[in-house]
Amino acid sequence: MDKSIFVTRPSMPPIEEYIKEIEPIWKSAWLTNLGKYHNELEKQLSEYLGVENISLFTNGHMALELVIQAMNLSGEVITTPFTFASTTHAIVRNGLTPVFCDVNPNDYTIDVEKIENLITDKTSAIIPVHVYGNICNVSEIEKIAKKYDLKVIYDAAHAFGENINGQGIGNFGDASMFSFHATKVFNTIEGGAVTFSASSIGTQLYILKNFGIQSDVSVNGVGSNAKMNEFQAAMGICNLRHVTAEILKRKIVVERYRKWLSNVNGIKVMNDVKEIQSNYSYFPVVFDEKVFGFTRNEICDRLSENNIFARKYFYPLTNTFECYHGKFDVSKTPIAQYIAKRVLTLPLYADLSIDDVDRICNIILEGYQV
Ligand SMILES: *Cc1c(COP(=O)(O)O)cnc(C)c1O
Repeated sequence: MDKSIFVTRPSMPPIEEYIKEIEPIWKSAWLTNLGKYHNELEKQLSEYLGVENISLFTNGHMALELVIQAMNLSGEVITTPFTFASTTHAIVRNGLTPVFCDVNPNDYTIDVEKIENLITDKTSAIIPVHVYGNICNVSEIEKIAKKYDLKVIYDAAHAFGENINGQGIGNFGDASMFSFHATKVFNTIEGGAVTFSASSIGTQLYILKNFGIQSDVSVNGVGSNAKMNEFQAAMGICNLRHVTAEILKRKIVVERYRKWLSNVNGIKVMNDVKEIQSNYSYFPVVFDEKVFGFTRNEICDRLSENNIFARKYFYPLTNTFECYHGKFDVSKTPIAQYIAKRVLTLPLYADLSIDDVDRICNIILEGYQV
């Protein structure tokens, strides 16, 4: 009973399946540079995600950095601070200025009512985040982008395989970035992808992830090196066979959490949204200490005393990072700050047992007075 439980545990195929998959590589000796496995995974993912255009990368962060570069943005980019370091860093590392919009208190995605006020003549794009797999208000964002002629790139790192009314989430905006990091719903060990609408972006991405090399004798972009290798792609091909089953197992865990926690005063959980097919990637819980009686930090400590490691995710906000000290005013994103101080992401992975969920919830609810 006293084994440790971590916030996540990567999905892995049976070892025999992976070994069988990679064996031919010893014959071909083709290890990377857009090989057979890379191309096969690209094809399979475009089907799974229901998108026309996709480009694979060595990780999600480089995918995001390079799609921003491919779009030739300038000046300011509107985004949110309630995200992983990657989103903000990708903007800054492209020489752009992030302008932080607050999130809405319902699903913690960008508050579409607050975007227009932040637009200036320097704004070139909006980079919203589908936080925890909660889908942004894509139709409202599209309207604003059209009105002001802005590009839209979604950080869809959490939204693998999600659909709105049957349409793959990678079809919205000019582009979306997906992460296939070990801890995500679908993994290629490390890995990522960009889905995009304009085929010209695909050409740019293809060149930029390979040093800007256009041909043997021509280098026409200040590129990076961000290619997905064959072992990553082979892992992806194996994991993709199991991902639908893995998501169903996650759903069972999520439903068990909801059964315990949905009706507790002072605890807010996420619920399903009718038009959205969820991937059950995270289970964030927000504690209102005045009603619930305990703070997020108290619950987090109590869980870790029991060898259960939940995560304060996302905390701290990216606009409060030391590396950005003095650059941003956190008081402009008060809802993001409120959530970041109170949210705890509970352990969630396909093989988490119902008994463990029950144990976690009992620890959380210890001492709670109805
Ligand atoms: C994981 C993640 C990324 C970065 O993806 P990597 O594949 O780890 O580089 C970016 N944004 C968000 C919101 C993420 O959760």
